[in-house]
Amino acid sequence: MPLQTLLQEIAQIVGPEGLLTGEDVSARSTGWISREPMEAAAIIRPRTTGEVSQVLRLCHQAGQPVVAHGGMTGLVEGTRTTQAEIALSLERMNGMEEIDEAALTVAVEAGVALQTIQQKAEAAGLLFALDLGARGSATIGGLISTNAGGNRVIRYGMTRNLILGLEAVLADGTVISSMYPIVKNNSGYDLKQLFIGSEGTLGIVTRAILRLQPMPRSQCTAVIAVKEFSALPKALRELGGALGGTLSAFEVMWNEFYRLVTTPPARQSPPLPHSYPYYAIVDALGSDQTADQARFEAALEQVSDAGLIEDCVVALTAAERKAIWAIRDDVDQFHQYRPWFGFDVSMPIPTMESYVAEVRAKLAAEWPNHVCFVFGHMGDGNLHLNVHVGSGDHQSRARVEEIVYAGIGIRKGSVSAEHGIGMEKRAYLALCRTPAELELMRTMKRALDPNGILNPGKVLIA
Ligand SMILES: Cc1cc2nc3c(=O)[nH]c(=O)nc-3n(C[C@H](O)[C@H](O)[C@H](O)COP(=O)(O)OP(=O)(O)OC[C@H]3O[C@@H](n4cnc5c(N)ncnc54)[C@H](O)[C@@H]3O)c2cc1C
Repeated sequence: MPLQTLLQEIAQIVGPEGLLTGEDVSARSTGWISREPMEAAAIIRPRTTGEVSQVLRLCHQAGQPVVAHGGMTGLVEGTRTTQAEIALSLERMNGMEEIDEAALTVAVEAGVALQTIQQKAEAAGLLFALDLGARGSATIGGLISTNAGGNRVIRYGMTRNLILGLEAVLADGTVISSMYPIVKNNSGYDLKQLFIGSEGTLGIVTRAILRLQPMPRSQCTAVIAVKEFSALPKALRELGGALGGTLSAFEVMWNEFYRLVTTPPARQSPPLPHSYPYYAIVDALGSDQTADQARFEAALEQVSDAGLIEDCVVALTAAERKAIWAIRDDVDQFHQYRPWFGFDVSMPIPTMESYVAEVRAKLAAEWPNHVCFVFGHMGDGNLHLNVHVGSGDHQSRARVEEIVYAGIGIRKGSVSAEHGIGMEKRAYLALCRTPAELELMRTMKRALDPNGILNPGKVLIA
C-alpha cells in the first residue's frame, strides 16, 4: 500500500489531530543529545490502546516501520526515524487512574511523565521509587521500554522491579493485557518481561500497573571523599550494614566530574575541597529523621574511624540535601565540552578501578588533551563515562567506543547498564552476550514481529 494511502487510513483511526506531517514533524528534535530536526513520514498520536492496535494492524499488513516515541530523553538513538518510517508517539495517552492506597498500586497510560507519577504518589503519602534526572520529560512507556535505572536502584531495583502489570500491543495489533495488580504471579511465562527493556522492538507499551511504596519519612544525605578507590567498596559494604537496609544511593564521582559540577558556570559550590581523587554521595531513606540522622552520622563516623574516608559533609536540612543532589544531577555541564561521547557500562565493582585506568591510558595515548568524566551508580556496578577528544566525527567516535568497550567482556560486564542498546550500541552487543543469547533474541523478534516493523534496526543487527 502506498504510504500516502496508509496515512489516510490511519487518519481515519486517530483523527486529524492524531496525525502530524511536514513542518509539524521537523519542528520537533531527534532527542536530548543531537537536537537535530526530526525526520519521519508522520507522527501518529493515538489516544487509546484500541487506536494503537488498529494503527499497528494496518502497518503490519503494509510492512510499514513504526518507531515508538515517549519523552525523547533516551540516550542511545532508540527513537531515531527516517523519512520512510512512522513515529508513534504516546503523548496523548497520558491518563492516570486513582491510586489504590490499600494495594499500593496505580494504573497509568504509557505517555505519563515520571515526575507526574512521582508527584501524584507523593500527594497520597506514597513513593514511586524510580527517579532520574530526566524525570520531567521521560514517560513511563519509555522508562519501561528501556528498563531504566536511576538513583535508587540499590534500594528498590530497576524499573522492572516496580512494574506489576502491563499492557502492550504486538506488531500485528494483538493487545496483550497483563494488567495484574499482584506481586506474585507464577502462572506460566511472565509475559510483561518481554516488553520491559526491549526498546519498542517487540511491542508498544500502552498501560502499566505500578508498584508504590510507603513514603519514607526521613532522608539523610552526605558527601564523602576517599583517597583510594579500594576504600569505596569497603565503605559501601560497611554503610550498607550499619544503615540496616535503608541505604538508597551510593553515587561515585571521580575528581574531574566533581570539579566540573562544582565549578562555575555550574551553580553548586563544592561541599568538600577539590583535592580528593574520589567522592561519593551517600543517601539513606528511613522512618524517623532525628533517630535516622543520628544513626547515619554514627555510621559515617564508624567508616571514618576505620580509615576508609578522608573527609565528609553531612546535610542537615532539606535544602542542603537538595543542593548535594543538584551536584550529581547537573549533567548539563557536559555541554561545555561539546562534542562529547557518553557511555553507560557496568561491571563488578572490584574491576572498576583497573577498567577506568585502562580506558584513560588508551585515550591519552591517542588524544593527550582528551577529557574523561567518570561518575555513576557505583552501588549497582554502573559507571558513566563522558569523553571529549576534540573531534566529534564518526571515526573518532568509533575509536573511542572501541576503547571504552574493549575491557567490558573480559570483566563480565555490560556495554549498557541502564540506557539500552538502540542504534548506538548494537554493534557492541556481541561483546557482552553469547551467540546463543543473540540467536534467541532474534527468534523472539521474528516470532513477535514477523514483518520486522517495530523499531527496525534497533537493538539487534538483522
Ligand atoms: C538528563 C538525563 C538523565 C538520565 N538519567 C538516566 C538514569 O539515571 N538512568 C537511566 O536508566 N536513564 C537515564 N536517562 C535516559 C532516559 O531518560 C531513559 O532511557 C528513559 O527511560 C527514556 O524515556 P523516554 O520516555 O524519554 O523514552 P524515549 O527516549 O522516547 O524512548 C526510549 C526507547 O523506548 C522506546 N519507547 C518509548 N516509549 C515506548 C512505548 N510506549 N512502548 C514501546 N517502546 C517505547 C523508544 O522506541 C526508544 O527505543 C537520562 C536521560 C537524560 C536526558
